[in-house]
Amino acid sequence: MARCVGACFIVPPFVLERVIRDGTPEQREWALATLLDDHSIRAQRIHNALVLRDRGRARQPLSPAPGGHPKRTIYDAHQQQDAEASDVVRREGQPAVGDKAVNQAYDGLGSTYQFYWDVFHRNSIDDQGLPLDGVVHYGDHYDNAFWNGARMVFGDGDGYTLLQTTAAIDVIGHELTHGVTEHTANLTYLGQSGALNESVSDVFGSMVKQFALGQTSEQADWLIGEGIVGPALHGKALRSMAAPGTAFEGDPQPAEMRHYVHTVSDNGGVHINSGIPNHAFYLVARELGGRSWDHAGPVWYDTLRDPGLRSNATFHDFAQVTVRAAQHRFGSGPVSNAVRDAWNQVGVTVP
Ligand SMILES: [Zn+2]
Repeated sequence: MARCVGACFIVPPFVLERVIRDGTPEQREWALATLLDDHSIRAQRIHNALVLRDRGRARQPLSPAPGGHPKRTIYDAHQQQDAEASDVVRREGQPAVGDKAVNQAYDGLGSTYQFYWDVFHRNSIDDQGLPLDGVVHYGDHYDNAFWNGARMVFGDGDGYTLLQTTAAIDVIGHELTHGVTEHTANLTYLGQSGALNESVSDVFGSMVKQFALGQTSEQADWLIGEGIVGPALHGKALRSMAAPGTAFEGDPQPAEMRHYVHTVSDNGGVHINSGIPNHAFYLVARELGGRSWDHAGPVWYDTLRDPGLRSNATFHDFAQVTVRAAQHRFGSGPVSNAVRDAWNQVGVTVP
């Protein structure tokens, strides 16, 4: 299965496992519950996907909308584990409600839509105006957020491992970008191509946040999930693109190829080795200065859409396509040089 298997979670299993191992009894309880829930959510999603496939894939494509406007619907799961919750609490164009999580989800989905539309003229995840559905208050003290291929689902967190997940706009951008990747490069969620899939979500998730805040590369924090990690993680975020391996106590991310982590867990370390391409993008953006979505962003977006990028691409394959994409869009010069230099700095050699 090419996409994240069943569902794409923002908090990888090793983070929850760490809290289960090192946390206090209270901290353990909800982290363990979340880890078990994630397994069943994934299994349920795979089951549903197979059922749908067997029914014959024949869903008619939506007629392409003119574009430029998101179609958002926010649902409230009322602490139940039901991503198909039908209780609509805010529709497109309706004013803010009394529930902060609802408004944050609505705004985050809107900012992500706006980023892709304004910068790349992409009309939603599928470029066909796919409606953006969000489900808030999912589960009881649920320590995660995920994209299930149709909906963006947010847990409230347990207050120890994770806080209210709707608060992080980059997490929303990250999750929706899994959908964009699925509709473009379709990077296989395993090993290096899986780490690239994760990295692309961090890269665009971070850009969504920078775009919404109007930040330059210098002003950006280059963190993923800043503001939603709880005290049990002893850190500031889930990941750091500027300094992979420093986001929280025990953060296993490498920044360079020579520290690549060979593991069978986490689909071959997709949330771990993503630190390497994440850092390459950060280096490009910082080297070029200004707004990350003016030069570095389009190079990564063109790469994602390049027919020459295979689903099972390695870091080296991906790096080669970024250099070619930079030359194609900006000519031979500072941009393509910065891209090549950045990959070389993280130990991915591009001639
Ligand atoms: Zn992800």
